[in-house]
Amino acid sequence: MSENQIKFVDLDLNQDILSALNSMGFETPTPIQAASIPHLLEGKDALGKAQTGTGKTAAFSLPILNKIDLKQYKPQTIIMAPTRELAIQVAAEIKTLGQNIKGLNVTEIYGGASIVEQMRALKKGSHIVVGTPGRVKDLINRRSLQLDEVKTFVLDEADEMLKMGFVDDVTWIMEQAPESAQRVLFSATMPPMVKTIVDRFLRNPARVDVAGENRTVAKVEQNFWVVKGVEKDEAMTRLLETEDTDASIVFVRTRQDTERLSDWLSARGFKSAALHGDIPQAQRERTVDNIKRGVIDILVATDVVARGLDVPRITHVFNYDIPFDTESYIHRIGRTGRAGRTGKAILLVRPNQMRMLRTIERVTKSGMEEIQLPQRDKVAEARLVKLSAELEADKENASLDSFVELIEKLQTSLEIDAATLAAILLKRQQGKRPLFYKGPDPMIEAIERDNKRRKERRENPRDGGRGEGRSFGGNKQDWDTYQLQVGRDSGVQVKDIVGALANELGLTKHSIGAIKLAQGHTFVQLPKAMTSEVAGKLKKLRIRQKEVGAVVCDFDDFRESRGPRSGGPRREGGRDGGGFRGRGGEGHRGRREGNGGERRFDRNRGPKSKPAPRGNRES
Ligand code: ADP
Ligand code: MG
Repeated sequence: MSENQIKFVDLDLNQDILSALNSMGFETPTPIQAASIPHLLEGKDALGKAQTGTGKTAAFSLPILNKIDLKQYKPQTIIMAPTRELAIQVAAEIKTLGQNIKGLNVTEIYGGASIVEQMRALKKGSHIVVGTPGRVKDLINRRSLQLDEVKTFVLDEADEMLKMGFVDDVTWIMEQAPESAQRVLFSATMPPMVKTIVDRFLRNPARVDVAGENRTVAKVEQNFWVVKGVEKDEAMTRLLETEDTDASIVFVRTRQDTERLSDWLSARGFKSAALHGDIPQAQRERTVDNIKRGVIDILVATDVVARGLDVPRITHVFNYDIPFDTESYIHRIGRTGRAGRTGKAILLVRPNQMRMLRTIERVTKSGMEEIQLPQRDKVAEARLVKLSAELEADKENASLDSFVELIEKLQTSLEIDAATLAAILLKRQQGKRPLFYKGPDPMIEAIERDNKRRKERRENPRDGGRGEGRSFGGNKQDWDTYQLQVGRDSGVQVKDIVGALANELGLTKHSIGAIKLAQGHTFVQLPKAMTSEVAGKLKKLRIRQKEVGAVVCDFDDFRESRGPRSGGPRREGGRDGGGFRGRGGEGHRGRREGNGGERRFDRNRGPKSKPAPRGNRES
């Protein structure tokens, strides 16, 4: 921002706005603001492309506020945002930017909250409406929201909105506003679907593109840790305790995992909360507010709900699960390094996901550095440092005198010296987080064991050359696990999955691996080496009229799953059965099982096996 010489006062903004910017500490406009505000003030249609965290909200909001007509009763601006969180955030930013405009009414409308209240708010008159497509459409249909006097129509985060399947709603809503309205579209990326909307609705727009300078990525230090020796949960606590964090956001893949990991962290004394789409709206708002205010320090979230979240105190983004695509990665790490600050992103990556990591590096044109997990003793050391900082702060506390008296009393009655008493109290104080450990770190042993096993396997291959040259001959390295968003609850059976994969994708039975049905989803192994044609078909695959939304995931626990189809690959135990795919770290499941040999599967047991396959990790 500093190389940008334009100041807000140079833009044609009125005093109410300039004073608000001043009190907010905004001095210079960001590049997207400097480039787009003049066009927007002129009333031109505009198309703005910039990475997340570059100040797009103020870019479109300031011109709107500048020309607000407080006497107009019907909405004069409508802003569409993809999620409730974003709608709330955008509305909040507009209210702050418009804090000196007396009588300004900004209304946010979104699903999951009382529609009656929103209707009431609209009835009172609203100058600016910020909403999500579904609810906006609903309120228009109920004639509670009228767009016939709208002067500016904004689509914020258009790529995300269209990706979420709102294209028909958005198109319909745009048609409800007058032809004469100024149309503005902001997006971080320009996929074909966005281009279609742009071509259809924007008229000779001013095009502002500052996406070239990938500021998010540049501001964020990026590291990765390859999962080995300990599981990811343990890794998280080690990192959280030794990294210099203020607030953190941890990205996981599934809703279940947000809850599971957040509970796990809370049980270990971290102030953490889960955030996902199934959590009721009011609670989600409270959670976001809590992390802003420091009531909690860690948010465990899925991609969708954390989209666009703007919490300046987030110093760290942990990618507990690797994202599905590069774009999500950029959005995720954009949650830190907000407004000119720097941030840090740490990715936990399994050895078989290294390819995805390299892809991310290539696309973001940035390097990620490998880090090692701190050893247990380092973690204990960090605890002592933290404790001593806390004690330091307490040294001057005035009420200590009365405690000194108590110490003397206790010493006499227990017949111990002060050091012993202090030791007892310190031992109690450490709680679940020991201040020192005895013996070597099990992580080191596990890594050594793993290396040894790998070496043995290299020198003494058991499967007689299977795998290498042949396709899908049972070598697990040839498979990716996909999560399909259809499961037993929608009446899907294994035969439907196999049938769809065979018929729609043209896969032979040899190229369909293990399948595990669960409640809301199914895991299936498919060949790593898929042609782009097959991958394209997989993307569009529907089973029982439902889009399956296949995504590659980490899941690897195919015990009790559909067995090998005749002639198909045989699933083997993760541990000794040739635990390929570099999953050394996930050993404890296998170990607990205690059967070192091959696992065969009884295909009839598959559909009856328990769901929540990952829930038993920490028992
Ligand atoms: P985007 O929509 O591009 O992801 P936001 O509009 O959410 O980004 O802005 C990111 C952060 O930067 C917000 O906290 C916002 O208040 C802050 N910000 C925006 N413009 C400026 C500015 N000119 N100077 C300082 N901070 C700004
Ligand atoms: Mg935004």
